[in-house]
Amino acid sequence: MSTPRPQLVVMKFGGTSVEDAAAIRRTAEIVRGRRARGLRAIVVVSAMARVTDTLLAAAAAAGVGDKHGALALSARLRSRHLDTARDLVHGIELSTLLGTVQHEFDALDDLLRGISAVGELTPRTTDLVLSFGERLSSVVVAAAFALAGLEGAHLDARDCIITDNSYGKAVPQEALIEQALLKHALPLVERDLTPVMGGFIGSNEAGITTTLGRGGSDFSAALVGGALHAGAIEIWTDVNGIMTTDPRICPDALRVKTVSFEEAAELAYFGAKVLHPATILPAVQKNIPVFVLNSRNAANEGTRITAVAPPCRSPFKCIAVKKRLTIVDIVASRMLMSHGYLKAVFDVFDRHRVAIDMVSTSEVSISVTVDTSEHLPLIAEDLKRIADVKYESGKALVCLVGEDIRGHAGISGKVFTAIEHINVRMISQGASEINMSFMIEEDDAAEAIRSLHRRFFSDPDGEIFDLDARANTAGAPPVHMPAVAVQ
Ligand code: ADP
Ligand code: ASP
Ligand code: MG
Repeated sequence: MSTPRPQLVVMKFGGTSVEDAAAIRRTAEIVRGRRARGLRAIVVVSAMARVTDTLLAAAAAAGVGDKHGALALSARLRSRHLDTARDLVHGIELSTLLGTVQHEFDALDDLLRGISAVGELTPRTTDLVLSFGERLSSVVVAAAFALAGLEGAHLDARDCIITDNSYGKAVPQEALIEQALLKHALPLVERDLTPVMGGFIGSNEAGITTTLGRGGSDFSAALVGGALHAGAIEIWTDVNGIMTTDPRICPDALRVKTVSFEEAAELAYFGAKVLHPATILPAVQKNIPVFVLNSRNAANEGTRITAVAPPCRSPFKCIAVKKRLTIVDIVASRMLMSHGYLKAVFDVFDRHRVAIDMVSTSEVSISVTVDTSEHLPLIAEDLKRIADVKYESGKALVCLVGEDIRGHAGISGKVFTAIEHINVRMISQGASEINMSFMIEEDDAAEAIRSLHRRFFSDPDGEIFDLDARANTAGAPPVHMPAVAVQ
């Protein structure tokens, strides 16, 4: 196990924190602040805002043979990156940077042409296309940092984040990552440089590019922090920290000052986009505090995620919502829930690599929720021997999280009274006892969240919640009602 490095901070900047030259300058100032305190930073950046979505669209267009569509999307990204580079860097460094950016885009265009010619997009090629987002942002940010006196040094994440051979959501190999970081990243830190690497991307042992799944840059930062036993991991984003709920849905959301690892993990798993669900684990293993901070409002103290959360007067800390879910009703046809029946059902989902979020059973039926409807016709086909299967999409899972649920008798009554005007489909109180979740129609989600928020956060505990700072922070875009669709 590597030795603790309390002076080392891993700073991850999300897409909005590197979306243009102004954002990258703010990011540089934040890193400068850490260095001024005598800390050493490793910086992990996402692709510039919306770039991964555009790359995905370009890959999809190429996959159906639409070469011109794919190249047009790539051309737009090329000018955006070149413009940002020109705004941030000058002199000889600018020519080098422009050369690198052009070279990367030439490689991307070749790849898109190849995909269009074949007319087939594999998971492996999708990962390669998506990797350009973080490859490019990290090159631009490193060059900007070098010029801003931060001794920025670009580090190719694919040399460090070693994964298994799966694509789309590759599994990191922690021992290999530690070795690679000790070899490639630590010497830079020891020379007082600031390594800048892309999040989200990695490579397998054969050197083939992989990705960690959407939102995976948080996970990359936690892997780096965990492997090098950093003093802290900072996740810089566009809101003041972990809020009581998504501020885009509920503008009254409050910043939560402290949450436990367990609460944060639960919250992320159940849909709070602010943190990737896998982020917490590497930090838990070494008890490294994680902070969620706002790059547009760096003075705000954000949210601290620690091993133990202080006690809270209210039962809940946060409300998460996960949309685009499907409920699958499985009605036993022959085996009538006999011994081994549940296993047979779950094995089918497992074979199709579809994860189940929630389960409820009755005498003859099982209902489960899944976050994809893509494989359901095949799953239904496989289950036909032992069950009748019906599925309905357009559902949302609402999850209330808090370690103090345990101590509050009659809490479910209060929850369901607050949303009595909404039709609830499935209910579960997790075994962990720190979440309560239920399924509703997607269209009811925003209303349910606001009602629950009014009910449980109108008299918040000042020790845990920031009563002054609301979601609308300086520089953040105004929040409009009604809520926009949030993923
Ligand atoms: P980044 O690009 O920095 O990774 P994300 O868009 O992935 O940022 O995550 C930040 C967004 O997560 C916020 O803008 C907010 O709309 C959303 N969000 C959802 N739930 C929460 C929550 N409980 N607290 C804070 N933000 C949340
Ligand atoms: N750029 C990737 C995404 O948009 C990873 C990330 O931003 O965390 O999903
Ligand atoms: Mg994110």
